[in-house]
Amino acid sequence: MTLNYILNAARRDAERKGSKKTTSRLEELQCGEYCEPGYDSKRGLVLANWNDTHETTWIKGQGYVRVAGGECTVMGRLERILDKAGFSTDWSDEYTSCDDCGKYFRTSGDCWDWKQYGESTEHGTICGNCLKGDPEGYLATRIDNPHNAANTAMVDLAAQGFELVADGFANGLHPGMNDNPVKLLEHYRAIMPQQEFVFTYKPSQFYVEFDIWARTKPEGLNYMQMELANGAAGKAMGLEYALA
Ligand SMILES: [Zn+2]
Repeated sequence: MTLNYILNAARRDAERKGSKKTTSRLEELQCGEYCEPGYDSKRGLVLANWNDTHETTWIKGQGYVRVAGGECTVMGRLERILDKAGFSTDWSDEYTSCDDCGKYFRTSGDCWDWKQYGESTEHGTICGNCLKGDPEGYLATRIDNPHNAANTAMVDLAAQGFELVADGFANGLHPGMNDNPVKLLEHYRAIMPQQEFVFTYKPSQFYVEFDIWARTKPEGLNYMQMELANGAAGKAMGLEYALA
């Protein structure tokens, strides 16, 4: 059975049932592929809200009330049929798609050490695979920036000439976990003035662990140094970056 065949059958069922909610969920359904690490799209990925629906009507004084006989189980059945037919199914509200390649990555974690495989900025949404194609572009907003750590799933720091300077810093709920990236950066810049620095991080349940990496500054000014040097002029040139 092809995907279109299965989806058309579901649409007809929803229409026959007169379920507007299911019809609109089927319209919002998205098909594509995962780029989330460790996820298998199999024959194809289908994202939707798979909860069964119940038609409601507005009654003055009571609000929205369920219509008798208005339940519709098409979404739940559709998910089971797609799974059996070899497709991957997942929840649309937990994913976003890359503007570049169109593949889907999670926007909410499914385990405590999860890191988002991509990022959304005012310039768009880019997945980790596409970011890997431009490591210096990715690092530009992270070099000498204590507010924005690099995700090692998306950039190979050693390949970009960085070496680990110090690791195992922690900031979090437990006593003593009060390492401050702003102060650490100040400290290392003072003792290693020819170097530029990047933080990496490891999320944990109750705290964040982070490491600091360095490489010799390339010729010329980097993005952050330009920003510092230019101040308002840098902003006017569109060189803004977000300080968390
Ligand atoms: Zn992509």
